[in-house]
Amino acid sequence: RFALKNKTIVITGGARGLGLSFASALAEAGANIAAIDLDDSPPDELGKLQAIGVKAKYYTANVRDYDGLRNTIEEIAREFGSIDGCIPAAGIMRDKPFLEHTAKDINDVLGVNIVGVMYTVQHCAAQMVKQKTGGNIVCISSAAGHHGCAPMTCAAYVASKHAVLGLVKQVAGELAEHGIRCNSISPGIMRTDMLTKMFEATPGREELLTSGCMLKRVGEPDELHGAMLYLMSDASSYMTGNDILVNGGKL
Ligand code: NAD
Repeated sequence: RFALKNKTIVITGGARGLGLSFASALAEAGANIAAIDLDDSPPDELGKLQAIGVKAKYYTANVRDYDGLRNTIEEIAREFGSIDGCIPAAGIMRDKPFLEHTAKDINDVLGVNIVGVMYTVQHCAAQMVKQKTGGNIVCISSAAGHHGCAPMTCAAYVASKHAVLGLVKQVAGELAEHGIRCNSISPGIMRTDMLTKMFEATPGREELLTSGCMLKRVGEPDELHGAMLYLMSDASSYMTGNDILVNGGKL
C-alpha cells in the first residue's frame, strides 16, 4: 500500500531542503520526480535518482508566476504522461518582529507560502481532474501553523502556515469527488538551509528553539519521510483534509 511505482510527483522547492529530501524518499518508493525551483541548475542529487530506475527531471520556475507555473506543470504532464502527486514545498521565512515587517516582507512570504501554494495545487489538480485518474496532494504547513513560532519573530510566516491548513481543508472537500485527496504535514524545527543559516548567525538560537520541544533537538529531513510516504500513498486512503504534526513533541 506504500508503493508509488510509475506515479509522477511534482515537488516545488525541489532543489534543496525538505523538497529534495522528499524527492529521494519518493523515488526510492518507485515514483518519478518532477522538481521545480527558482535556481537555474538542478541539484546533483536529482540526477542520481535516475540510477535507481525512476525518471527525475528539474524545471526552473517561480511559484509566484501563475501563468509561468501553469506552463511548467502542463509541460511536466506532457513529458511524464500524467501528474499523480503534488507537494508544494517551496517556502521562505522572514524572522523579524511584526512591527518591523515591511510591505515587501509580508507580500513575499505570503506570495510564496500561500499564494504560490494555491497556484501549484490548482494547476496540478486541474491536470489530475483532466486525466480522470485521481491524485494526491500533500502540502507543507508547519508547527508554526498550529502554535506560532515564539521565541522567533515571524508573523507573516505563521499567518501563511495557518492559511495552508485552511486551504487543505477546503480543497480536500472540493476535490474529493474527483478522487483527489489533499492533506498536509506540519514539521517542527528541521535541519535545512532555512534554519541552519539562522543558527549559524546567532549562537544559542538552536538550543533556545529546541528547549520548547520534548525531544530537545532539531529534526532531520528524513524523519518526515514516513509521514510523506503514508500521505502520498494508498496507505492513507481514508485520510483527507487533515494534517500530520511532526514536531518532536511540543512542551
Ligand atoms: P529551504 O530554504 O531549504 O528550501 C526552500 C526551497 O524553496 C529553496 O530551494 C528555494 O529556492 C525554493 N523557493 C523559494 N521561493 C521559491 C519560489 N518563489 N519559487 C520556486 N521555489 C522557491 O527550506 P525548507 O526547510 O526545505 O522548507 C521547505 C518547506 O518546509 C517550506 O514550505 C517551509 O516553510 C516548510 N517548513 C520548514 C521547516 C524547517 O524547520 N526547515 C519547518 C516547518 C515547515
